[in-house]
Amino acid sequence: MERELVCIVCPIGCRLKITGEIDNLQVTGNKCKRGIPYAVDEITNPTRMICSTVKIKGGIHKVIPVKTDKPIPEKYKLEIMKLVNKVELTSPVKMGDIVIADIFGTGVNIVATRNM
Ligand code: SF4
Repeated sequence: MERELVCIVCPIGCRLKITGEIDNLQVTGNKCKRGIPYAVDEITNPTRMICSTVKIKGGIHKVIPVKTDKPIPEKYKLEIMKLVNKVELTSPVKMGDIVIADIFGTGVNIVATRNM
């Protein structure tokens, strides 16, 4: 395989080149060693912060913004969106309140990102 990625670990944004097989990847183009685990994780188990909104009753808006409190494997993204769409909160909600705990046993929570 051969892939190119931009490292987002720091603002330098090195252009990384990843070659080899999934169990033996080589990374070049990194100006520091932090680019290597970033590239390997992006190829083998990419994670993302996920942001969305959920319905809320009694608030000043009909929905409230939420996000994961840690990056979560990207493979869960669709299932998380289905879960989030089923939730309806009741005001008051505080920023940081857990909306869905321990998604799929990952230890990652969905939390509110504002008061309402
Ligand atoms: S490889 Fe190192 S220097 Fe380059 S963007 Fe990533 S963290 Fe920054």
